Amino acid sequence: MKRLIQNARILTMDADMRILDPGWILLENDTIRDLGEMPGDPAALPQADERIDAERGIVLPGLVNTHCHVSMMPFRGLGDDCPDRLRRFLFPLENKAMTEALVYRAARYGAGEMLLAGVTSFVDMYYFENEVARACDEMGIRGILGETVLGQPTCDSQTPGGGLALAENLLRTWRDHPRIRPVVAPHAANTVSPDILKKAKRLADEYETLLTLHASEMDYELAYFRETFQKTPIEFLSDLGLLGPRLLAAHCIHLTDRDIRLLAGSETAVSHCIGSNTKAGKGVAPIKKLLSAGVRAGLGTDGASSGNTLDLFTQFRLFASFHKTKNRDRSLFPASEIVALGTRGGAKALGMERETGSLEPGKKADLVLVETKSVNMFPCYDPYSALVYSANASNVEMTIVDGEILVRDKRLIRTDTGKLRAEMEEEMGAFVRAAGVQG
Ligand SMILES: [Zn+2]
Repeated sequence: MKRLIQNARILTMDADMRILDPGWILLENDTIRDLGEMPGDPAALPQADERIDAERGIVLPGLVNTHCHVSMMPFRGLGDDCPDRLRRFLFPLENKAMTEALVYRAARYGAGEMLLAGVTSFVDMYYFENEVARACDEMGIRGILGETVLGQPTCDSQTPGGGLALAENLLRTWRDHPRIRPVVAPHAANTVSPDILKKAKRLADEYETLLTLHASEMDYELAYFRETFQKTPIEFLSDLGLLGPRLLAAHCIHLTDRDIRLLAGSETAVSHCIGSNTKAGKGVAPIKKLLSAGVRAGLGTDGASSGNTLDLFTQFRLFASFHKTKNRDRSLFPASEIVALGTRGGAKALGMERETGSLEPGKKADLVLVETKSVNMFPCYDPYSALVYSANASNVEMTIVDGEILVRDKRLIRTDTGKLRAEMEEEMGAFVRAAGVQG
């Protein structure tokens, strides 16, 4: 099956940041076959089974969300302004009311929300992660999925660190799936024992997959490592042997210059979650310094409990605002660099740049069409600026993953949002009662 998208402003996000405007892109089954500028004579366009007129909309690589807890959807809007929310609110409620069935239905809903926002790949860390994988398989999205390993009993394991066995099961079950990449996800250096952290690393090495955890996020986390080990969390992870090209560390808000050298020297990647970090007042990660040191970095939404949205357009805007303000420099991070972080940068951070993150022949057909017809998108002089400063998720007209159109005319194809919501709501009764709120 060959599909041609034509008359588009194509942002290839390749090494030369080539823009084809107006351009065409040819997809064959799950792969990008070719792309180019629109010829003077339409008859010179490649043959295809289906032709799609983009009407000068912006075509870009599918967005890569490098940190998420997709099944935390029922938590959206709960305890938003509660201090020390993780320990006082989230962990207890998860243990009381998070079930296998709710994880599955919330993951379907969240995957739908991401696809509608142009996210084609996401990294996830949660409980009952096998159910998240099942949801991703059904929804068509690309999932990089890790079972949370925590040093205390959880909703899916009564033994501290019991998540390791579940993690291995996940790795065995899903490793050959074309769109699902099982990974290993110890929660954080301060919530898992050093012994379990080392076991998690060994598991990731054995299965040659990604290791992901939270790091340098919480004030009490920094105080704990300072008081107990006279180290920063990054120094602690480094001494434990956890840093390396396999590790994706989420947040990394509070870093010393030495931490940055350790991350760069070990080729550790970072997921930057600006929306989640600033909503909680935790701080703004030193991304400019990290990138200048050569650290691979992508953008993440975190769960809907922390950032309230799973869309990267919101992160683009917040990223620009916070980093420009923090550095008091309007020219810092031009829009093209921000879009690059959400696409190619994210793919690189996951070690998936050969597969996705840019529009080049031979890569997977993961791409997004953002329309420029809505009121907020006119005029559109510079497509990068339009994506960062004007667009929002509702401008996503089409999302393609692995060559399959999953969103068309702003609607999900495999299912619909009404059904996803009804399914999740049906399963939320006990959760809402345990949270003590009105549903
Ligand atoms: Zn997180």
